[in-house]
Amino acid sequence: MIRIPRLLAVLATGFALSAAQAEEKVLNLYSARHYQTDEALYSNFTKQTGIAINRIEAKEDELLERLRNEGASSPADVFITVDAARLAKADELGLFAPLKSPLLESRIPAHLRGENWFSFSTRARVIVYNKADVKPADVQNYEDLALPALRGKVCSRSGSHPYNLSLLSSIIARRGESDAEAWARGVVANFARSPKGGDTDQIKAVAAGECGVTISNSYYVARLMRSEKPEDRKVIEAVGVVWPNQKLHGAHINISGGGMLKTAPHKEAARKFLEYLVSDQAQIYFADGNNEWPVVKSVQVKNPALQTLGSFKADMLPVTDLAKNAALAQKVYDRAGWK
Ligand code: FE
Repeated sequence: MIRIPRLLAVLATGFALSAAQAEEKVLNLYSARHYQTDEALYSNFTKQTGIAINRIEAKEDELLERLRNEGASSPADVFITVDAARLAKADELGLFAPLKSPLLESRIPAHLRGENWFSFSTRARVIVYNKADVKPADVQNYEDLALPALRGKVCSRSGSHPYNLSLLSSIIARRGESDAEAWARGVVANFARSPKGGDTDQIKAVAAGECGVTISNSYYVARLMRSEKPEDRKVIEAVGVVWPNQKLHGAHINISGGGMLKTAPHKEAARKFLEYLVSDQAQIYFADGNNEWPVVKSVQVKNPALQTLGSFKADMLPVTDLAKNAALAQKVYDRAGWK
């Protein structure tokens, strides 16, 4: 008789627990990625775990601003974006929760992990040249783009863009600030025009002969390679691609990644989601959808464009070093006049 209330209490606790577990069946994701191919990535997670994903997609800065404004009451569980320096900045703002995960640590190489965030795919900065105008032998290294032989032939996007800041950060890390500045000045002296547009615009300008050579993220090249539009086919036929610095430290790579937010209301769901992102299947979706490479070495993507581009030596510089040098990189570009 005495036991009945206890039993009721136990039952009540059980109900309370399952109510709490039911709340956990949701993940609020803030994402600065916006690739249609990510749909399968998310729906597959829900299928596997029963955890629904509420996704808020916006530009990186808007999401950071939103997170800061929402503060402790933010509904966001996970933040994902591109570029190591941006993730490091979010971390500096104290947005990420420390997350100990043996699975993430074993699947993601150490140089691709931040303090409280993780990389899920990599992209390389490649050299793209006009086949009729420039010999590939003359553009084997980023350093070559600063040589007088390429005067008036280089096109570039803004030096303030994270992709170029990241590249210069790696040059600073590898060769020091003054060499990096000399390089930036040399490239600026070779500009065919003032920096404008994105990477794809540079590739198109190279194909059109407006410039002889540029630097682009690999996935923009791959996207054009996979395009069936006749105008894109023409662009790709006119250009060649070089894996830079293969006899030096390797091609500069950057990442897309994310982490669990400190204020995450659904921490278990957040952990599950981040761990799901390093599963074989998710790695394929995550990387292949945007023509990137998985961070998990054993995972093979069957992407015709990436296969055509072939394998390459990537610079193994820790992503945290890229982030550390980003502010200095901006100063160096400013001094060199790389607008
Ligand atoms: Fe991009």
